[in-house]
Amino acid sequence: MKNQDSIAALLELLRERNRFVISSHLRPDGDAVGSSLGMMHLLEAMGKQATVCFVDPIPMNFHSLDGRDRIASTFPAVDAVIFLECDSVERSSIDRSAYDAAPPALSINIDHHRSGREFAGFNWIDPEAAAVGCMVYDLAIAAGIPVSRSMAECLYAAILTDTGSFNYSSTTAATFAMAEHLVQSGANPNQIAADVYFSNPLSKVRLLGIALTNLQIDGAVSWSHVTVEEMERVGANAEDCEGVANHLIGIAGVEAAAFLRELPDKNHFRLSLRSRRELDVSVIAEHFGGGGHRNASGCSVEGTLADVTRLIVEQMRKACMPLGKDDAAVEAPSLPSILLA
Ligand code: 5GP
Repeated sequence: MKNQDSIAALLELLRERNRFVISSHLRPDGDAVGSSLGMMHLLEAMGKQATVCFVDPIPMNFHSLDGRDRIASTFPAVDAVIFLECDSVERSSIDRSAYDAAPPALSINIDHHRSGREFAGFNWIDPEAAAVGCMVYDLAIAAGIPVSRSMAECLYAAILTDTGSFNYSSTTAATFAMAEHLVQSGANPNQIAADVYFSNPLSKVRLLGIALTNLQIDGAVSWSHVTVEEMERVGANAEDCEGVANHLIGIAGVEAAAFLRELPDKNHFRLSLRSRRELDVSVIAEHFGGGGHRNASGCSVEGTLADVTRLIVEQMRKACMPLGKDDAAVEAPSLPSILLA
């Protein structure tokens, strides 16, 4: 279905129903929280009852978004559930026992991941969309609902974060036009940026320090890790690891990067993969049962730190080969040689 057809069909489904639950993926990020709250404001403006449900904690950086204080962890009885930015019920942050006991008659999936799956009753997947927040915006415009200040703030935060502050290749003139309209509708870019980028807990900054100390580079591939022990040492949680991978791909000459976070069950790692240009890390993530976008993906891999590192670095070096970058000389020496110098 083309986007216009999907939007028309979706609006019909929404108009026919009254009570909705909205949720997104585990460990929600800016697009997950912002698009979910934006969708809640949209549905409420359409005269519907809408509850945003997350079992996982909402990162501090998004606490000032309007509606955050109404986010529930339990799953109420509703006519439909809307999953945003999420490829399965399993990867969602909903209360599974309540959901499994009485799944709503209709499930709706709105996603922009290349690896998105048609797992719901109704599916609208647009890998061209810069953020799911953009899709919710398009829905609001098509519904003829004026963009309120609350909706604008939430959608702006979603788009800001999922475009890497309007830096990723998904950012187009249309993204800026949308952002302009959201700012005209009341979103305060300075305030949102202050909350999102300049309100980090100290533990996050200390954790970044450890991750950068563990940095390694080989050719055009960079990688790093943090262990449970290192996280505990600085009082960091999983949320504090958000964004570390972006530092690894930000090094001149690096085409692919991996950040490994040890999970509490040990010998099990959460991987954040990043790449530049046409190098597609979603293929690597999918190979390990995960998914995501071409330049930003994730997955979980079992094994020792040494084994998982070897495995992922090998895959990424292979992926760099067609670019002629697998042996690219990187100006900066890898960390061990710095330490040995
Ligand atoms: P991050 O590295 O920031 O955790 O994730 C990068 C992107 O990959 C995000 O869009 C995220 O939703 C997606 N992603 C991360 N882990 C997984 C996973 O295990 N499965 C799928 N399908 N997507 C993932």
